Amino acid sequence: MAKKIIVIGSGFGGLAASLRLKAKGYKVTLVEKHPDLGGRARVFKKDQFIYDGGPTVITAPYLFEELFSLFNKNISDYVKIVPLDLWYRFVFSNGDTFDYTGDDGSMEEQVKKFNTSDYDGYKNLVNFTEKIFDKGFTDLSDKPFNNLIFMMKQIPSLLKLKSYKSVYNLVSSYVSNEKLRRVFSMHPLLVGGNPFSTTSIYTLILFLEKKWGIHYSMGGTGSVVNALEKLMIEENIKIIKDAEVTEILTENKKC
Ligand SMILES: Cc1cc2nc3c(=O)[nH]c(=O)nc-3n(C[C@H](O)[C@H](O)[C@H](O)COP(=O)(O)OP(=O)(O)OC[C@H]3O[C@@H](n4cnc5c(N)ncnc54)[C@H](O)[C@@H]3O)c2cc1C
Repeated sequence: MAKKIIVIGSGFGGLAASLRLKAKGYKVTLVEKHPDLGGRARVFKKDQFIYDGGPTVITAPYLFEELFSLFNKNISDYVKIVPLDLWYRFVFSNGDTFDYTGDDGSMEEQVKKFNTSDYDGYKNLVNFTEKIFDKGFTDLSDKPFNNLIFMMKQIPSLLKLKSYKSVYNLVSSYVSNEKLRRVFSMHPLLVGGNPFSTTSIYTLILFLEKKWGIHYSMGGTGSVVNALEKLMIEENIKIIKDAEVTEILTENKKC
């Protein structure tokens, strides 16, 4: 008989874990304290408007696609995710704008609009963030950091990648124009971080964006949550909403 697993919380972490465990053959129940799924990616409704509570920028769509392909299903039958041409538009208080895209020619033009001599620095910054991406995303993003020895082993390479610097400090060592420094330091804001204190590991997003582009789910992030919920229902994952887990009882090494 399949082992039973209870996943607590329906953020993207809980949604993905439930689906991955189900695909491995477990009997899965998901418990969420709020009346709807999504966690920080929940949506809020007021009048005829729907607001994304948190994430809006999708940088690695393959991670969502994978959850559907685990069940031989195609994400495009559930939600429409489209690549964007214009990723971000920065508007400064004096009216200057910076259009941030994945197009190298356009990025050259935008950087040079602020400071011609910062263009080489910008390219060097992107090259450096590729190294951070290789370590921080490719090597480490799927490793649990709950083992002290494993954590210690990462220190030399993290020092080499200057992870002791903040995002803003690292960016500032490559570009001198203050507005460009702000543009290329903004990525921690995506996860509620402060660019002046968040470790420069987060600059890996700069390279991540260049690699896969920026995508948007039509109808807002809530449509990704709805698509995952539909898949879970189809795959017989039990979903209990509006129920806070207050205690985990264990007996004879069983929960
Ligand atoms: C404003 C904002 C913008 C963001 N923008 C982006 C972006 O553009 N791109 C991006 O990739 N990321 C973005 N992020 C980050 C992203 O939202 C989070 O990393 C992600 O949603 C976290 O998912 P999670 O599953 O780890 O946790 P959460 O979403 O926090 O989920 C935890 C869930 O557990 C539930 N829960 C907790 N305790 C219990 C309990 N005892 N019983 C039952 N349920 C419980 C909570 O109600 C919640 O639903 C943004 C975050 C914010 C806040």
